[in-house]
Amino acid sequence: MQQVTVLGTGVLGSQIIFQSAYSGKDVVAYDISDEIIAKLPERWEQLKPLYLRDLPDATPDKLDAAVSRIRATSDLADAVADADIVIEAVPERLDIKRDTWQKVSAAAPEKTIFATNSSTLLPSDIVSAVDRPSKFLALHFANEIWRNNTGEVMAQDQTDPEIFEQVAVFAEEIGMIAIRVKKEQPGYVVNSLLVPLLDAAADLWVRGVADIETIDLTWRTATGAPVGPFQMLDVIGMMTPYNLGKDSENPVKREFAERLKTEYIDKGYLGVATGRGFYEY
Ligand code: NAD
Repeated sequence: MQQVTVLGTGVLGSQIIFQSAYSGKDVVAYDISDEIIAKLPERWEQLKPLYLRDLPDATPDKLDAAVSRIRATSDLADAVADADIVIEAVPERLDIKRDTWQKVSAAAPEKTIFATNSSTLLPSDIVSAVDRPSKFLALHFANEIWRNNTGEVMAQDQTDPEIFEQVAVFAEEIGMIAIRVKKEQPGYVVNSLLVPLLDAAADLWVRGVADIETIDLTWRTATGAPVGPFQMLDVIGMMTPYNLGKDSENPVKREFAERLKTEYIDKGYLGVATGRGFYEY
């Protein structure tokens, strides 16, 4: 698959566009307005130094070549006209996803495979909006995809296994480790493993069983993992667990959120991004 169209040029969409182009694909970027499209060159300039920092084989020439393989448009029919695969990274709202896929269905040629990068919505929530259920599935990336390079390929009931495999191979072609998720699972594989670990760490800390350093040291020592759960939370940033916990029905999760707010967030300690979270960086 050479012709790639990405819908939505936000946090993840812009990374999928750039990573695909960096891997040699011809990419069309679509977003809803020309104002948003006009800002894309700035995005590429922000991504380039991160590639140079994190990827030993990145060079300025390779990064310029990536930019030259990207075309941007706010015309959806134009964007999908020759796509081998459309990857959708629009806001995580069912109404927007369904509306987008209905429009894409009406405009895309028969050959086009449809993939959604949804994090919490399942492909089966969206599938009735597409005209080709056998060619529709999820392809889920992680933030900073050039280094957190899992590409979780997840089928819904009607996905053709051959299409599933083609998308897994595509994920590999753009530098991902393809994670084949053969049936629907909220959280895919990565978050199905990660979220219970992070919840358990929070629970141990809130109930006073062990302190943060001890919990991380235990995980690193006992499993050989390079970082512990609170170090992982510092990378994720405090706001995500805070937002997930603050209205939880579980009193321990609510207390965790409250302590994140008073002991960290209110002091500006949001994690690695601000130089300080549970640890200093
Ligand atoms: P974002 O808000 O940064 O970007 C969304 C983009 O979609 C914006 O550029 C916006 O202009 C555009 N948009 C709005 N309405 C649109 C429409 N009707 N049609 C096309 N584009 C439209 O969001 P994001 O963080 O990039 O998330 C996008 C998707 O990727 C979501 O489904 C999210 O769950 C998923 N995702 C996000 C992350 C993450 O860490 N941010 C990780 C994995 C998956």
